Amino acid sequence: MPAHFLSDPGELARAPEIVVVGGGVAGLASAFFLSQAGLRPLVIERLPALAMLASRRSGEGVRAQWETPSMIAAARASIGLYAGFAELTGRPSGYRPIGYLYGSRTAAGAARLKARVARQQAAGLGDVAFLDGEAARRLVPTLAPGTTGAAFRAGDGVVDIAEIVAGYLQAMEADILTGTDLLHLRARPDGVSLTTTKGAIDAGRAVLATATRTTGLLASLGAALPLRLARSTIQYVELPGVPAEHPAVVDADLGSFWRPDRGGARMTASFRSTLFLDRFTDDPQADPDYLAHAIASVAPLVPFWGERASGIAGGHLRSGSLLVTGDGAPVIGALPGQPAVLLNTGYGGHGIMMSPEGARMLAAEAAGGPPGPFSPSRFAEGPGLPPEPMTVNLATDQGQTQ
Ligand SMILES: Cc1cc2nc3c(=O)[nH]c(=O)nc-3n(C[C@H](O)[C@H](O)[C@H](O)COP(=O)(O)OP(=O)(O)OC[C@H]3O[C@@H](n4cnc5c(N)ncnc54)[C@H](O)[C@@H]3O)c2cc1C
Repeated sequence: MPAHFLSDPGELARAPEIVVVGGGVAGLASAFFLSQAGLRPLVIERLPALAMLASRRSGEGVRAQWETPSMIAAARASIGLYAGFAELTGRPSGYRPIGYLYGSRTAAGAARLKARVARQQAAGLGDVAFLDGEAARRLVPTLAPGTTGAAFRAGDGVVDIAEIVAGYLQAMEADILTGTDLLHLRARPDGVSLTTTKGAIDAGRAVLATATRTTGLLASLGAALPLRLARSTIQYVELPGVPAEHPAVVDADLGSFWRPDRGGARMTASFRSTLFLDRFTDDPQADPDYLAHAIASVAPLVPFWGERASGIAGGHLRSGSLLVTGDGAPVIGALPGQPAVLLNTGYGGHGIMMSPEGARMLAAEAAGGPPGPFSPSRFAEGPGLPPEPMTVNLATDQGQTQ
């Protein structure tokens, strides 16, 4: 049964068992897996359409190459869910295993990649390989002659967010209210009361999949977690001749990323340290000279980009706001001391690749299972999980503030 769109909460036959607040990829995945667990959720989304913020602006990259075992396991399971999305939802997710390569041009960088691959393999990621410079260039001939080493996993790749949203909507037994902003949330002994721009809604439980607006909603419940907003930007370029099956490439020395895209590529020049935002914004401004920075940061490892830059026919720039946690892992599960309020958020720069398994964990807990590895209670008991080095985390990333 496809999702049922409402225009007013008055159309609901009865008070919902569970309300998912936020219709980005995390909220939609939550609603899908909750409905699979037999709970019929109501999804409320502040904007007139679903998945318009970070979820629509990403690189759509999916990789299991992480360092901490819980992140490796969650990403690998999520990629498996995307690979089997057609069986799950009736539509494919657009998953294409083009591979993800982390490359370096220095001896020290290659040694770090080799040591990381050994740690990943010890943590159970058996299908990631370290390649010396020569082997890396045999696999990916566009790499610079000076490449010293690379980490590669063939099953990493890309997905298609439009397909994923369509799949979840087609297969979820849920009601959806767009243009409905949750202003205030109150926990009662027997449930939750939501004050929204379309009136009051009482429900059994609420799931906050509200990303960048989560901190304010937690404050209205008297709760706080180590969360911060950050900006990320992606440049789309049109350039004929970029091989469609080229692996996604991360320059381990400069921190840049690019992947092929229909008729060109997407790239992120993350050589500037993380930009933290002090105020909530849907549309953080991108730097106007971003294309030049992006080319300068991808070309050293893949010289193709420097040689062909003048042929770039067009493109566009998208920036989005992310919610980053203390340890870099998402927060999934019931809020300590407030069992009627659950979270599925804090995905930082990895919500496309982690949210299927994250939402499956959320639904398992909502259906009566024990808390999973990303429970918010980890922050009540200490600083959280060991900080995940392969993403922004507040333990090691000082970043810049805007
Ligand atoms: C440039 C860029 C590149 C990225 N690249 C990748 C990548 O390659 N791979 C990857 O896995 N991830 C990537 N990400 C990260 C990924 O996009 C995010 O982690 C993911 O989209 C987060 O999903 P979300 O649903 O938590 O948040 P969002 O997409 O922000 O959705 C939250 C939703 O909640 C709604 N909402 C908030 N408050 C309320 C309220 N009070 N009432 C009702 N609704 C509310 C919002 O309107 C929004 O629609 C990238 C992000 C950016 C910006």
